[in-house]
Amino acid sequence: MAEFHPRPSGPSSRPSDRGSDSRNRDRGDSRDSRGGGGDKRRRFQVRKKVCRFCVDKSPFVDYKDVKTLRFFITERGKILPRRISGNCARHQREVTVAVQRCRNIALIPFAGEK
Ligand SMILES: [Zn+2]
Repeated sequence: MAEFHPRPSGPSSRPSDRGSDSRNRDRGDSRDSRGGGGDKRRRFQVRKKVCRFCVDKSPFVDYKDVKTLRFFITERGKILPRRISGNCARHQREVTVAVQRCRNIALIPFAGEK
């Protein structure tokens, strides 16, 4: 009986790095409920959290620039929230106005299009 595994010090001393990662990703991903689709936003647009208008130093958002505006809308034409798009508050407001103008001149679709 030489094999005796000494436990560290009981079940109360867990590795500390496991405490912060408490989301159970195995359970959430494995089930296939296609109704909500809530967890695809994590890997969908997790890019750098820098407002791209601040990077470009553009003073305003051009509502005719459809290529740029399409980064901030979903496929169905909805405007992405700021936590996903990564815009700062000022430019997110301008993106919202620009998208609404852009819809009015029919460059991008309204939300809820089928
Ligand atoms: Zn900005």
